[in-house]
Formats: sequence, C-alpha cells, structure tokens
Amino acid sequence: MRLAGYEITTLRVGDFKLDGGAMFGVVPKPLWSKQCPADDRNRIDMTARVLLIRYGKHVILVDAGIGHKDDAKFHDIFEITFPLGSLIDELARHGVTPEQVTDVIYTHLHFDHAGGTTGLVDGVAIPLFPKAKHYVQSVQYHHGTTRNPRDRASYIDGNYEPVRAAGLLEFLDNDTELFPGLFLDTTSGHTPALQMVRITDHRRTVFFPADLIPLAAHVPSAYIMGYDLFPLTTLNDKERWLNRAAREEWIIVLEHDPSHEAITVKRDEKGRIVVDRIGTLEQLYQGDSA
Ligand SMILES: [Zn+2]
Repeated sequence: MRLAGYEITTLRVGDFKLDGGAMFGVVPKPLWSKQCPADDRNRIDMTARVLLIRYGKHVILVDAGIGHKDDAKFHDIFEITFPLGSLIDELARHGVTPEQVTDVIYTHLHFDHAGGTTGLVDGVAIPLFPKAKHYVQSVQYHHGTTRNPRDRASYIDGNYEPVRAAGLLEFLDNDTELFPGLFLDTTSGHTPALQMVRITDHRRTVFFPADLIPLAAHVPSAYIMGYDLFPLTTLNDKERWLNRAAREEWIIVLEHDPSHEAITVKRDEKGRIVVDRIGTLEQLYQGDSA
C-alpha cells in the first residue's frame, strides 16, 4: 500500500516459539492460552514480520528477524523455521537486492529483530546490507552492550557489532522524523529506547509498535510481557499510543503475531481499548477486514 509517498510492504521472515508465560507476564495461563495455545513445552507461536518501505531512492527495512547464524541448539529452543525462506529470499521476491537497501531501522537490538542484518561467511558474521545506514537509538545500543543478567540472552554481538565495525551504524537520540512523514517514537518499557515506526500523511497512519504490542493479545492493558524491564512504563505507553490509535483510526502492524498481520483498535462500551478490525495491512487500508 502507498501512504505519504511511502510504498509499504510486510515481509514474514521466519517463525519461532517463545515461552507463553514469559510472553504474558502476570496474566494466568487459562486466560492467555485461549488466544495463544501453548505446545507441550509451554511455547506459543510467534513470527518475525518486518517492513520493506520504498520512498523515492530509499529502500528501507524495519527490523530483520532472527537470521541464519545460529546453531542447532538455538534453533531447537526457539523452534525457528523459515516457511517463506530467508529475508534475502523475501527481498528478492520483491525485486530488491541486499546492495539496494539504503536504510535499516533497528527498533531495538534483541536477536529476533537484529539477527537478520548479518550473515556468516566462513564462520564470520558480516553485514548483509553493505550500503545501508543502520539506525539505532544510542541508549539502546549502550544498554545492549552493557550486559546484565536479566536480558543479556537477547543481545548477541554478531547481530550488530559487524555493522558498527563497518561504519554502518548510525546513532539516534530521542524521537525523530527520520524522513518526511516517517517518525521514530521511542518507548522504554520493553527495553530502553525501543524505536517504533509511524508513517503518516496526517490523515491516515500506519504504526509499527514492535515489542510495545507484539501480538493482538497484548492490546488489553494488563497483558504485558514478562520480558519487559519496566512493565509500568509499557502499561502507560501502551495506553497513550493505543488511545491515539483508536481516536485517529490508525492501522497497527504487529511484528510477532502469526495470525494477525494488522489490526485497528476502538473503545468498547466500558471504555476499554479493544481490537476492532483484523486483516492484512492492504485489507485494512482498503477498508476491508479478514
Ligand atoms: Zn524485544
């Protein structure tokens, strides 16, 4: 679909599984498992959905999925599969070569977002998008490189240090309008300075909240990931952004939801924010639902 001069496409670049309890924090399993059934290892289905955005001469990627550098043990823990092939395959299907990518926006540096920006050659991780500027918030980068026991498993140097070593990492500070009508809005509940992407012509808006709202099941305010470092910040930010999304009828693209690519939200009769329409980005933009 096309909005404000941006041609926006969603790409599904791998599926995986995460612990259902960790995905829903304090919410009891009988509640979350209705929407997200768990397997025999208590894991729920996740996907890595990224954005390919074309804007004039720019070819922009928002996040890159897990990538292909990991070993069999890692693949088993997260049951990582690539039903549609790799990110590179998906880009090729849309007529884009890695060299043509001009900009990569890292929402944050967790492995399921940053992993696909590098690949192994003779056992060494190298940048897969050699001509692209890769944007990250400096606070997020410094958080990731200062390992702490709580979330260090999410940060793997090979996912972004080769990018920095090649001089391709660009540090941003605070919210910014990266290109006209393309905003990066920071939120620090999941992790410090995660940047969400918002594209708008001030009439219609597409919002990519990344891990502020990973699945449609996370729309209710108490449904917050156990992974989040600052859950009350998530609660407040979610309320603030979903309020605006409901009022201005934004289309929200969900990065990790295997069965809900995009949603809109509304206020119900009790005043709570709930999912309204469900569909693909294209369907919701055209005014249809699935
Ligand atoms: Zn994350």
